[in-house]
Amino acid sequence: MESVQTIQFGTAQSLISLASPAEIRDRIADLYVADGNTAEFLSDKQRECAVILPPGESEKTFTSIEKIIARAVELKLDRSSLILGLGGGVICDMTAFAASLYMRGCRVELVPTSLLAMVDASVGGKTGVDYGAFKNMIGTFYPAEQVILCPEYVATLPQKEFLCGLAEAIKTALLGDLEMLELLESEKKTVLERDPSLVKELIVRCVRFKGRIVEEDLKENGVRACLNLGHTFGHALESVTGFSRVSHGEGVAWGIAKAAKAAYSRGDIGSDYHDRIIRLLEGYGYNLSYDISSDDLMEAMGHDKKIRGGQKRFILPSGPGKFTITPLDEEFVRDIVSRP
Ligand code: NAD
Repeated sequence: MESVQTIQFGTAQSLISLASPAEIRDRIADLYVADGNTAEFLSDKQRECAVILPPGESEKTFTSIEKIIARAVELKLDRSSLILGLGGGVICDMTAFAASLYMRGCRVELVPTSLLAMVDASVGGKTGVDYGAFKNMIGTFYPAEQVILCPEYVATLPQKEFLCGLAEAIKTALLGDLEMLELLESEKKTVLERDPSLVKELIVRCVRFKGRIVEEDLKENGVRACLNLGHTFGHALESVTGFSRVSHGEGVAWGIAKAAKAAYSRGDIGSDYHDRIIRLLEGYGYNLSYDISSDDLMEAMGHDKKIRGGQKRFILPSGPGKFTITPLDEEFVRDIVSRP
């Protein structure tokens, strides 16, 4: 395996590496967790001691955690046992959550298989499940001891899921990786064709950026909030459209466009950079114009758990590879979301 980075969380370490599908099939753990779509990446032998959950966000529940724990008990795992989660963000979040609870914490490794999980969900130690309508309401901070990236898996992702992950890569580029920003601008066709070496480069760049941020701020008391660029707006759009019509990535892309508009309206960025961001997002085919009531969006934003002390804080671009974290006046936000 090729090492990418080591992230230090206090005394704990998360090793990030690259591996091939064959190396993943040889990986030894005491229990494997996958979903119906990702179980095919496991070997027959690995599947014999696996929990295979139905795919999808609707399965991100305590019931699934109980299934993982029940299997761990059945296999007589102890605190030194290793649980390996292989799947998208849902499987990664749940496997690490279950591992953090089992006997007050056993070992966990993650093999993210969706682009979103590779560039974001598997790195940084946030685990959890949804509770009713509330996404990620219950969880722990429990970094995986190993995160093994296998960019080859991206080839089989449905296009919608690919674009979900790509929105996070665009976010990362805007936040702090100018070379990646230029790559995304100049190599659009190759990125959309999922050229393996380019996909690998995007993944590694995103992981290195996120690794640096979470190392500084595991529990999101400060700079980690920057990773929410586009998310406060985007989550409101996802929520108002019932978490089905608009995917997470589409919401994030729309949210980044709104953040750019807010930054431009405040004079934080000029029209050149604003237009550059919009061109980039439109170039990848993201819809930046939805006909949604601003009242509904404002209401949905009121429920965003990233709000501190009643004040909405927004991440805004302040120049290529730069950002600010700032509270915005409610009327200003209403104006931004009501514009096309
Ligand atoms: P997901 O896990 O539901 O995967 C999306 C779909 O793609 C699923 O149907 C899955 O089975 C399928 N899939 C995954 N890999 C595949 C592959 N290689 N080939 C074919 N199909 C494949 O969703 P996601 O978008 O990966 O992750 C979203 C989740 O991640 C959300 O629950 C979100 O809260 C979480 N998340 C967590 C963090 C974090 O820091 N912990 C960060 C971002 C997102």
